[in-house]
Amino acid sequence: MKVLVLGGAGYIGSHAVLALREKGFEPVVLDDLSRGHRAAVIGAGLIEADLTAVDLAAVLKESECGAVMHFAALSQVGESVSRPDLYYRNNVAGGLLLLDAMVKSGVRYLIFSSSAAVYGEPSRVPISEDHPTAPVNPYGATKLAFEGAMRWYAHAFGLRYASLRYFNAAGAHPDGLLGEDHRPETHLIPLVLKAVLGDCPMAVFGNDYPTYDGTCIRDYIHVCDLASAHLLALQALLAGEPSSVFNLGTGRGYSVLQMIETARRVTDHDISIQLSPRRPGDPAELVAGSRLAGERLGWRPRYPELEDIVTHAWRWHRAHPEGYPA
Ligand code: UDP
Repeated sequence: MKVLVLGGAGYIGSHAVLALREKGFEPVVLDDLSRGHRAAVIGAGLIEADLTAVDLAAVLKESECGAVMHFAALSQVGESVSRPDLYYRNNVAGGLLLLDAMVKSGVRYLIFSSSAAVYGEPSRVPISEDHPTAPVNPYGATKLAFEGAMRWYAHAFGLRYASLRYFNAAGAHPDGLLGEDHRPETHLIPLVLKAVLGDCPMAVFGNDYPTYDGTCIRDYIHVCDLASAHLLALQALLAGEPSSVFNLGTGRGYSVLQMIETARRVTDHDISIQLSPRRPGDPAELVAGSRLAGERLGWRPRYPELEDIVTHAWRWHRAHPEGYPA
């Protein structure tokens, strides 16, 4: 089966493309390359287009895709606060165009990249899927808005979906084929590794959180484990399973300081720390309850160890200090 992968040149989408190929699907990537990379599309055709400016129903028909994976959204929390217009236009209005195109072309199956940001500041951890959703930034709000639209389109028009709420996507392909390259980079692991490569200090945003060492705790989930969850979710839908929402994380939390210590060990390089103010909108602790994905999809993270996640990321960053080639 052919699968349209919107945003397949991005970090998680490109890993999903490889996973689709490995399982015998034929991925077709649509990406405007505004944030993705041509060199990250391996083993799939690339349609270079902005999903808000293309006739998606025609793309679905002409490419003969039977399902869609949707990664093509803006994903920087800080940017979403200063430019909510961009986030609502891309993530919500763009998403509605996709849903309309799916209804028009009769494509029923959709796997959506959602986020732990839909929960906002959690009232309990680990966070299970029935935790109240109360996003605290436009990024999370747009993810939740699209989930709502998907639910009602599914109800009215017979679409079937899986919404995958990622915790902190991390790591890189273990064979060094793909990695993480955001511009500008805002994420902890690539920044720590860049600090190693550039021999610069690493900023730690706040050490007065109510956590055991005062720094924020996150649940880092290997990008290949996210990709495999997409495959399992698609296979479940194709086998007739109902639409669902799943959290994806390891269920283990690590602090910023623990992460830096792991990077020290993996790279065998000292990393000096620059204590900085808290970053607005950062919850103290986000840890996933992912039992549902285990029970319903048979999903088990293959690389739950932080050491493996950082080792794979380091392998890619060391080989690509400037990121992907243009
Ligand atoms: N962080 C940090 N220094 C940095 C980048 C991130 O201390 O230069 C912290 C950030 O405040 C958060 C954690 O690392 O507590 C993970 O941040 P990231 O941006 O990777 O993911 P997020 O949790 O925001 O999705």
